[in-house]
Amino acid sequence: MSLSPRSAINADLHSHSDISDGTLPPEAVAARARAAGVQLWSLTDHDELSGQARAVEAAARLGMDYLTGTEVSVSFAGQTVHIVGLGFDASDPALSEGLRATRSGRDARAMAMALGLAEAGIEGAYEGALRYVGNPALISRTHFARFLVDSGVCGDVPEVFRRFLTHGRPGYVEHRWAGLGEAVRWITQAGGVAVIAHPGRYKFTPTEEYALFSEFQAHGGQGVEVVTGSHRPSDFDKYAGFAREFDLLASRGSDFHSPEESRIGLGELPPLPAGLAPVWEALSHRVQRA
Ligand code: AMP
Ligand code: MN
Ligand code: MN
Ligand code: MN
Repeated sequence: MSLSPRSAINADLHSHSDISDGTLPPEAVAARARAAGVQLWSLTDHDELSGQARAVEAAARLGMDYLTGTEVSVSFAGQTVHIVGLGFDASDPALSEGLRATRSGRDARAMAMALGLAEAGIEGAYEGALRYVGNPALISRTHFARFLVDSGVCGDVPEVFRRFLTHGRPGYVEHRWAGLGEAVRWITQAGGVAVIAHPGRYKFTPTEEYALFSEFQAHGGQGVEVVTGSHRPSDFDKYAGFAREFDLLASRGSDFHSPEESRIGLGELPPLPAGLAPVWEALSHRVQRA
């Protein structure tokens, strides 16, 4: 099957602003998306909706279609999984409350991370990371990483994650995020579609990965990111296969965080592999047209 004209649009449905762990305000992310030729955009800040009104307004001003978005942190089979929500009603109270609860442990977690880093000889990391935070409700590992790069401890953000912020490293703290079923329900009951974000990034066994997809679908999840800045080209094919096998809608997004840190710019992605059902076609009734 060849690409239909609508599935060939430049949709970027995964990006971050300084409302979570991106470095740019929502308006600047919108402007970069527009300049890169994005036709349909979504701002998907982690566990947060407070950038949505600004994103909608900026997209409209720039003549770009928009879908509401967020990226929910979920604990599943001992790992953190991200579930992107698209096209929901951003004023839905249960979704807002669920995200508030998901965010609520971040500050205590950050203080525990700083304790671990102090034991490894890095003092003042909590205060240091806070200087990079745009939204006090959303301190993340990325803010610690930027602090450790700018203070000269590491050369770049990926190095900080490798040496300090991943499982078994001094600044890593186990954390309990939302449940998979909860996250999917918050999104779908608000009228949106839940999407498994960057499945190629997780370190699941094939059995665990199969469980993730089947439980996600049993909870009402309908989509998977196939083309994302977090995937290698071999992952595009693998997860196109999963989309077909599970009959899931396919999504596409850069996972843009910052002009300095992103491997792939907004909208700079290959099209979805042929024969997949684009999530934006299923959500066409939820698109806020410019
Ligand atoms: P948190 O929600 O505080 O656990 O932070 C997760 C964020 O850290 C992700 O959304 C990414 O932006 C970033 N991140 C995770 N792993 C890496 C990595 N290996 N290299 C660079 N950034 C990463
Ligand atoms: Mn992030
Ligand atoms: Mn993610
Ligand atoms: Mn993301």
